[in-house]
Amino acid sequence: MEIQSPDRLIRLAVDLVNLRELPGPAELRAFLLAHGEPEPVEVDEDDVEGVRAVREALRPVFEDDPAEGARAVNALLARYAVRPYLSDHDGTPWHVHVAEPDASWADWLAATTALGLATFAAGHGFESLAVCAAANCDRVFANTAVNRPRRFCTPRCATRTRVATYRARQG
Ligand SMILES: [Zn+2]
Ligand SMILES: [Zn+2]
Repeated sequence: MEIQSPDRLIRLAVDLVNLRELPGPAELRAFLLAHGEPEPVEVDEDDVEGVRAVREALRPVFEDDPAEGARAVNALLARYAVRPYLSDHDGTPWHVHVAEPDASWADWLAATTALGLATFAAGHGFESLAVCAAANCDRVFANTAVNRPRRFCTPRCATRTRVATYRARQG
């Protein structure tokens, strides 16, 4: 299980919260592989249950109240993270682990994404972690651009909102 760049951790956190459906082990396995986890990636129903709970626990980090966001991150770190340590298991380059070596996927995701979010919030501020402002969109995003506030998860949501506002003005 890898931890590499902060970018990767924040992407993992954002994509996990945005994972609307997590029907079963096959989808979780595909998600982990798509995010760079090396084989063997073996998951079962318990992993799916656990990861759904982690996803719910992460969402408050992106909502409006920074104090609430910090509490959510700290709660995840307190519950899932262990003392950080370096590992070069399986011939990988040295990297930091914050989960137990034999952690379940859910525990690993919780510890790893909480660390990524903590680092990101400390560097960019909680205002850079947000829920999309478009109507009917509840996707979250992390804004990595410095001094460029962002309100939407994608350009598509920004355009959709602009068009809707324009139409509303036309009456
Ligand atoms: Zn690793
Ligand atoms: Zn959106």
